[in-house]
Parts: sequence; structure tokens; C-alpha cells
Amino acid sequence: MPFIPNRPLQGKSPGEAPTTTPGSFARPSDIGGAYSFSSPDTPGMPEPSTKTAWDFMPEDWVCVDGAWEAPEGFEPITQLEFARLGQITPEMHRVAERETHLTAEQIRDEIAAGRLIIPANRVHLKHSLEPMAIGRASLTKVNANMGASPVSSGTDEEVEKLRWAERWGADTVMDLSTGGDLDACREAMILNAKVPVGTVPIYSMIIGRKIEELDRALILETLEHQAAQGVDYFTIHAGVMRDHIPLLRNRLIGVVSRGGSLLAKWMVHHRADNPMYTHFEDICRLMRRYDVSFSLGDGLRPGGLADATDAAQLAELKVLGELTERAWRMGCQVMVEGPGHVPYDQIEYNMKLQRNLCHGAPFYVLGPLVTDVFPGYDHITSCIGATSAAYHGASMLCYVTPKEHLGLPKQDDVKQGCVAYKIAAHAADVALGIPGARNWDDDLTRARAALNWEKHFELAFDGEYARAMHDEDLDVDTDFCAMCGHDWCSVRISKELMELDSGKDPEFVRERVMRSPGITEEQRTLLERRGYLEPDQIHRLAKRTSSAVGEASESPDCHSDYVSPESALEIQREKLVQIKVKRKAPAAAPAE
Ligand code: SF4
Repeated sequence: MPFIPNRPLQGKSPGEAPTTTPGSFARPSDIGGAYSFSSPDTPGMPEPSTKTAWDFMPEDWVCVDGAWEAPEGFEPITQLEFARLGQITPEMHRVAERETHLTAEQIRDEIAAGRLIIPANRVHLKHSLEPMAIGRASLTKVNANMGASPVSSGTDEEVEKLRWAERWGADTVMDLSTGGDLDACREAMILNAKVPVGTVPIYSMIIGRKIEELDRALILETLEHQAAQGVDYFTIHAGVMRDHIPLLRNRLIGVVSRGGSLLAKWMVHHRADNPMYTHFEDICRLMRRYDVSFSLGDGLRPGGLADATDAAQLAELKVLGELTERAWRMGCQVMVEGPGHVPYDQIEYNMKLQRNLCHGAPFYVLGPLVTDVFPGYDHITSCIGATSAAYHGASMLCYVTPKEHLGLPKQDDVKQGCVAYKIAAHAADVALGIPGARNWDDDLTRARAALNWEKHFELAFDGEYARAMHDEDLDVDTDFCAMCGHDWCSVRISKELMELDSGKDPEFVRERVMRSPGITEEQRTLLERRGYLEPDQIHRLAKRTSSAVGEASESPDCHSDYVSPESALEIQREKLVQIKVKRKAPAAAPAE
């Protein structure tokens, strides 16, 4: 049965599924169309391209009555080729299980249109890779960079960081090693990674030699080696051209991409154009054989707000659009990389220009940072930009850690970067109205409204940390917390109001109050790292809280449902932990 593109989507059509979150200002969903999930366009924004990957088919394929046919004897290899032939691969089925708002048919159709990719090298699939998808129809993804540098870290430490990044929600990782045993590090990461692994192969190409020595043979040999190892996507900086270099003259910080700067140097030395561009079809042929996806590198991305959206960056983006078309013609899956450092007001334009020039190919952006003056906090400056980028068009966000611009991230920096970017990705998914995206928030809100601390911690992204923060002041299950205290707890008062209003059953008995398991060693470490209290203060306070609420008795007087208002007040006034300053009255306003 020939595959006819553009037929009505099977299964959950946009009309059937609940789409936009009630109250959302996002556009209605358009899965199967150019908008997928999208923010409303501010006036003046570029419109989506009218073309898709269907407009850039291999030259020897023919279209008969709306169905594309491959030449005799053609064997599909890449997810894009299977999708073009109407076939649903096991990887597409697996992605449909993970993206519960999409059917396998929709995933196939989005891949065929070039708007979604499954970066899954056939070699890595034989190990422990869990297929995932990157594109506007799917949830927003997060990448975590890691890799040894010439001055720091080694293979074991990087594999440990990989596990740590997976634990904290990284959807892909990139091995950006430039030091140590690059080959062993890459191999170890691929063998251990459940998530796709990306690399920037030019780093390996120049180890032990000068960039000027780079030639076609070296490029293809290195790519072949890494593809055979199982790398799932390659950053290829093929969009930097020789005539872009004069456009850099007025920049404050020039070229900040390692790959971009190396290739610019090669072009100046050889007075020739970028070899990645010149030999692009050879590179495509090689990557197709393993189904390594392209991540078309943004070698001229801005490295400071002053350089954002300048002529050099936009000239390269135009070439990346052309390369997207060429890679699709060769049967390869493509995503495109983006900036960098961008003022907040320019982010939407950057996202929508890429959507237009690259015909909806997924956009994978680094941050962007929305200000340059907070080194040490760039996971925050960039996560603000990343949220906006994801809302306006990015499909994957490359995390930034607190060590950005300052040094090689350590394990805790990896966690901080992952957490910040999971916040950005999830916030955008909720705002875009992706069906089901907000359910998690609603569940946690219900637990919070019920003052069900156990459920609250269970649902929290980092429940261990949330519990430690709570138990620092009060390590028992009360129907208020130390923020406002009993009398000022609006959630407790509101709960009582609702129960009264609903005609609470007079026979209703609340489940017996549970004691908190208390602060664990791990939580203690987390609290100590915050640095607000001395460790011995924390221990003293935790102990004091336990005894304050009746550690010795079997039924601590903590839930006000079980005690008279007077004794609740007594606990509040006299026994609750007081940090350093003895409060005469409840000090803070309710946070809820
Ligand atoms: S922050 Fe205030 S309102 Fe919220 S649970 Fe704690 S005491 Fe109640």
C-alpha cells in the first residue's frame, strides 16, 4: 500500500485531543501543520515556511498519484526514510509511548515532514539507548553537555556525570571532550547512555595536529569512526562561510564557538570555503549509513548581547536553511543549532526566523542568556531565555551550568543546570498547552492544598531537596509549615473553609498524623550546602523541633484537628523552631 502524505492524521487528530490548556494564550495546536504547538506571533514575526522535507526529496524518488516511491532495490536506513515510505519503526512506537499526546502515526508524519527527529544511531540502539524525539510536536527536551577538558576530569568522572545528568532529567547528552582519552571517554559514554549522545567531531579531528591540516579524508575518517562507535548526532559547523568573516568586524567578542573559530581560521589560511560545506554530500552519505542525525552547528552564534541577531549570525542561519534542504535530499535527519546570548526581546524573532528559513526543522538552542553580567549564575540568566525560546519555537534546550564561562562543570553544577532547564522546558510546555503537560502541576497543587506533605515531596521534581528544606524547620507532618505558622496558614484556613462549605461529614476522621522520617544524611548535606546555617545549628534545630512537637509521645500534637486551638497556639508560639532571632509574632506573609 503506497504511503500518501498529507492525508488526515490517524488516531488522535488535533480536533479530538484536548489541546490548549484552558486559559492559555498559545495558538490552538496544529500537529501535522506548520505551527504544531506555537506561541501567537507578535506582529512582524516571520511566518512559518510553506515548505517541509517533502519538498526536498532525493532526486531519484518519484511521486506517483501523491505517493512517493523509492528506486528499485532501495533499502531505508534512517527514520526519515522509513517515514517517507509510510513505515512506522519500533523507535517511533516507543516514542509514542513516551509522548502520550502523540500517536505513532503522528510521529511518523512529523518525521517525514522534517519537523521531528529521533536521534538514534543503529549501533547505539543495540546497547541501552531509549529512543526519544525532538520537535515542536513533542515535549521540549533538554541537553546536558559534558566531557573532559585538557586541564580537568577523566573518563570515569564523565561517565558519573552522565548518570547524574540522566538522573536529573537530561534527554540527551553531548560529549564535548577536548582532553584526556577522547576515544575511551566517548566509547564509555555511549555504552552507558540510555539517552542519545551527541559530539562535535571537529574536536577529535585536530587533536595532535593543526587545524590547517584538516582535509576531506580526515573529516570522513573521523566521522566514520565516531559513527561506528554509536554517536547519535553530530554537530557539523558547515554553515560558516568565508564571506561571513568580514561581517564579524564590529563584534564585541568575535566567534565564541570552538568549531566556528577553528573553521574560520582554516578558511583564512587556505583562502578557501569551509570544507564541511564543500564536502557536505559526502558527510551526508556517511551519516545516513548509521542514521546519525545532523545538528547543524551555529559557528557564528553571538557570544554577548551586543552581537545578537547581527549580520554574521543571520547570514549563517540562511546557509543552515540551505544545508537542511541538502541533508533532507540525502535522507538524513536534521536539527539546527541556535544562539547563544540574546536580549529577551529578540528571542521570538530568532526562533521564528529559523522556523521560516529551515522549514520547521527542530531548533536546538544554547540558552540563550538574556544578560551577560551574572557569571556564576548563568544557569539562571540562560534559563530565562530558554523558557522564552521554547515557548516561541525551540525544540531542545542545551543547558548552561553555573560554571559557564568560568570552568568545567562538576557534578553539582550538572544538577543545577539540569534542574534549571527542566523548569524552562516544562514551563514552556505548559504555556504551549501541550495536552497533559500541566497534569503534574495540578497534582502537586492538590497535594499542597490538602497539606499532604508526603505527596508534595513525592511529586516534587527534587523531592529529597524539598523535604530537607521543609524538615530544616519542622521535621513532622503538620497542617502548616514554618513559613507562616499555624494561625497565618492560608492553605489550612482555606481547607477548613472548603470542608465547611462542602458540609463536612461529622463522622469524618482524618488519617492519623505521620511523623516525618527526619533529616537524612543526604538532606543534611543539601542543607549544609545552602550555607545559611552552620551544620551544628541545623542538627541542633532539627533535634529541638523533634522534641518540641512530642518526639517522646506516640501522638505528637501537631495537626490542629487533634488539638485545641490553645495548644496549637502554644506549639506555634513556644515550641516551633526559631532561627537565630526569637520572633514575637508570626513574621512572614503567606506564600501560597
Ligand atoms: S507557606 Fe504558609 S500558607 Fe503555605 S503551607 Fe506553609 S504556612 Fe501554610
